[in-house]
Amino acid sequence: MSGKNLILCLSMASIILSCNSKEKNFKSAIDSISQADLSNHISILASDDFQGRAPSTLGEERTIQYLEDQFAKIGLKPGNGDSFFQEVSLVKISADKQMKFNIKSKRREFNLVFSEEFVGGTPQLSEQVNFDNSEIIFVGYGINAPEHNWNDYQDLDVKGKTVLMLVNDPGYATSDSTLFEGRTMTFYGRWTYKFEEAARQGAKAAIIIHETGAAAYPWGVVQGSWNESKFYLANNMLSKSDLYLQSWVTTECAKSLFVSSGLDYDKTIASASLRGFKPVKMNMTASAHINNRVEYTKSNNVAALWPGKSKQDEYLIYTAHWDHLGINPMFGEDTILNGAVDNATGTAALLEIAQAFATLAKTQDRSILFLAVTCEEQGLLGSEFYTLNPLFPLEKTVGVINMDGLNILGRTKDMTITGMGKSTLDGYAISVLEKQGRYVCPDPTPEKGGYFRSDHFSFAKVGVPTLYLSKGIDNLEHGKEWGLAQNESWTKENYHKPSDSYDPARWDFHGMVEDVKVYFEIGFAIASAK
Ligand SMILES: [Zn+2]
Repeated sequence: MSGKNLILCLSMASIILSCNSKEKNFKSAIDSISQADLSNHISILASDDFQGRAPSTLGEERTIQYLEDQFAKIGLKPGNGDSFFQEVSLVKISADKQMKFNIKSKRREFNLVFSEEFVGGTPQLSEQVNFDNSEIIFVGYGINAPEHNWNDYQDLDVKGKTVLMLVNDPGYATSDSTLFEGRTMTFYGRWTYKFEEAARQGAKAAIIIHETGAAAYPWGVVQGSWNESKFYLANNMLSKSDLYLQSWVTTECAKSLFVSSGLDYDKTIASASLRGFKPVKMNMTASAHINNRVEYTKSNNVAALWPGKSKQDEYLIYTAHWDHLGINPMFGEDTILNGAVDNATGTAALLEIAQAFATLAKTQDRSILFLAVTCEEQGLLGSEFYTLNPLFPLEKTVGVINMDGLNILGRTKDMTITGMGKSTLDGYAISVLEKQGRYVCPDPTPEKGGYFRSDHFSFAKVGVPTLYLSKGIDNLEHGKEWGLAQNESWTKENYHKPSDSYDPARWDFHGMVEDVKVYFEIGFAIASAK
């Protein structure tokens, strides 16, 4: 063998060797993701000891302590200087459920019954919030959307008035693909937007009419979330506005209001989704008297850093909300909302993926921040707070991968991208899944507005590329229809209820383990991309 050939042979061997070790390096990280680890984390996070992981409770203390311990044990660095915690300043407002909410027409007076007919609260920071005889105007969907050439508040002054409106948007109502985004709910369809817009317009009170299809959840979910104290970021716009009451009424209640004001409910509602809709005076007034408890408090995001090598000052963030709904006496016997699927699963995945990155012998290029955020269930507050107070520059943040509610129904051929087409990161998901012989699917129920209902959205709002990839529906054994039906029935039976608890006998982890490996691979690819 000539000297030249020997060198060639040696360099070939070293290429093969380095490929092998690279493969091996990667494979050992992938293989380290296990059902045993995931189920162990979930069983702890979703245990009664953690009391449903409500912000600013003992449940929070136990949860964030557990996360800190685990991140430190894995060998990650604190994400906030020398601390794993990012304090989130909050104000907690508890409105008295005995609040008086009264609506008067010429013919009738309604003293609405809390929980049965309406729910509501005030964002105001005073102990007593009262207003009387505020004129009620039906403002259709309550939307001001220049890019859709739609303004329900056009030429309307609602200062001091009460706006009554529908949930979702005209595109959903008509299935007209030229209106908004057709059946796909836009941000304007979300109740959070509607209250904020009412506040921007100077309204005194806002009432949303609940409808199960349009809201994407039954009245019970609205009841549950307004039966409890509401959290706001300490420095939020609603508290500074003149909005005294934000409320929901049942469809039944809304119908009787329309009847009493001499309006045809169905016709008036239908007119709200037509171009040229004009707000309708209800010839009614609203009054409310609310006793309030206002507490200034705090919660914590948990942030752990796994530094990169050659592009250390660029960041990929994995997010999962650690919080859930705590304890709610409304539920009778079992009052602890353990939030096992929502979102002990995503939080467990966060720990498991961190552990997998720490297993890599050769570190990825970019730094990775593992961010367990708080107050998702209170309106994405922890993630919003992070975007307002980023620990690492947002313009150096190349992407966010959000995990919320993982698969417990077994392996699937697909995974779902909620908000597919909105982000440059879709391609990573597509190629990683393709390699496994799987595929990505757009959100099967975009009318439910899932894109606006988890933490990636806080980042998308400020222009960071995000990927909200979640469980598939095309079950390997039972197919798509079955998967879809299972998801629907899970939502109906367990979503935001005490029955979302960890049940090892009924959970099938195979799909979850596979999906968590996908999250890891996508993150690795993004963190290593040229
Ligand atoms: Zn969730």
